[in-house]
Amino acid sequence: MGITRILIANRGEIALRIHRAAHEMGIETVAVHSTADADAMHVRLADHAVCIGPPSATDSYLNIANIISAAEISQADAIHPGYGFLSENAKFAEIVEAHDIKWIGPKPEHIRTMGDKVTAKKTAGDLGLPLVPGSPGAVESVEEAKRIAAEIGYPVLVKAASGGGGRGMKVVPEESQLESLMSQAKSEAKSAFGDDTVYLEKYLGNPRHIEFQVFGDGNGNAIHLGERDCSLQRRHQKVLEEAPSPVLTSAERDRMGKVCADAMAQMGYRGAGTIEFLWENGEFFFIEMNTRLQVEHPVTEAITGVDLVREQIRVAEGRPLSVAQDEIAFKGHAIECRINAEDPFTFAPSPGKVSYYHSAGGMHVRVDSGLYAGYSIPPYYDSMIAKLIVYGRTREGCIMRLKRALEEMVIEGPKTNIPLHQALLKEADILNGDYSIKWLEEWLAQRESES
Ligand code: ADP
Repeated sequence: MGITRILIANRGEIALRIHRAAHEMGIETVAVHSTADADAMHVRLADHAVCIGPPSATDSYLNIANIISAAEISQADAIHPGYGFLSENAKFAEIVEAHDIKWIGPKPEHIRTMGDKVTAKKTAGDLGLPLVPGSPGAVESVEEAKRIAAEIGYPVLVKAASGGGGRGMKVVPEESQLESLMSQAKSEAKSAFGDDTVYLEKYLGNPRHIEFQVFGDGNGNAIHLGERDCSLQRRHQKVLEEAPSPVLTSAERDRMGKVCADAMAQMGYRGAGTIEFLWENGEFFFIEMNTRLQVEHPVTEAITGVDLVREQIRVAEGRPLSVAQDEIAFKGHAIECRINAEDPFTFAPSPGKVSYYHSAGGMHVRVDSGLYAGYSIPPYYDSMIAKLIVYGRTREGCIMRLKRALEEMVIEGPKTNIPLHQALLKEADILNGDYSIKWLEEWLAQRESES
């Protein structure tokens, strides 16, 4: 059955992204917003808008009762959760479906399985994905941890089963520190997630973060749309992403992509998903799966020409994917810069009024953002205010265009991290694609020590 009106349970650029895909399909949109977002661009552009609560996300964007009421009042027949907020909340997905509203996302049971890292890892292993060596499941005691760590070899990483955003994670260099670091990880996990279950993994010294975009129709058909390299991170937060990865050959992409797509087909996975791996010395190691659209999805759209939000909506309607694996070709190169309202080098948040805004433009330049002159960036949410996505026929051409686009972009009022991106694009390692997940933090530390 066709969807006629989508409630967008999110804010910012992703709310706008979903609105755009919906309107291009002739579907109406309902924006829900906190009182702090009454003047947001997605609220202005949506066909209908409902205020769902005060600024605090707990009372608005995470308020399930208010969002469901908004859907009923506005007669929305589908909900798209975007990323973050309720997008990976299996309970919310079930409640949406129980109200006879279409959930534009994966089946609730798959969200649940992949949301717990211990069951996710087990499931991934059963589906044939290569795993980081580690404990087969949760680790119950220090003795058990010592035995497993001795087998896999130090350093090891203690990780929280309910972890996210890098919390509840501790690197253990040697056995003498295992007991105290494990108890620290447990108490951190307990206070952050209300669950102190932990497991062990071999700590990889210098890996890249490479993730595969997958898509399933929920009926056993699934495809992959290649990989994204998201190795440039600070505190486990991605800063710049690119597709394809500078280190993969097309044979490796096809091989690993097929492993991922086959796994999703076997699961009967529905909708968009991302399978994240660490990659070291030519080997892939599964770390987690995200059962939602990712922030960095546009780099995949740029090199494949597939509109991922449109596919999500089609699949939620029960229609097949509009492309088959053999119709997907990877062409050119794309890079995304996350533009945040923050000091470019201290990373202190910088919300407030945008006094002047000029977007970048021109051939192969895409800006996903709700910014406009006069807009006031609220202090309550994520600091990301725009995504600049640039395409080029070659990686070199893409970087030249990206530099040009960053020069054009003017945001006055709050500080932004545009100068950080400009500095990064002068570094030989970045230009050569020669960087691991450690690179950015080491570069920042070096810069700090020199100043
Ligand atoms: P979270 O959900 O908390 O973000 P992830 O499992 O996705 O946790 O890991 C976050 C980041 O931590 C990875 O992108 C990587 O930088 C680092 N990491 C995770 N597992 C390992 C490992 N086994 N060895 C080295 N680094 C790791």
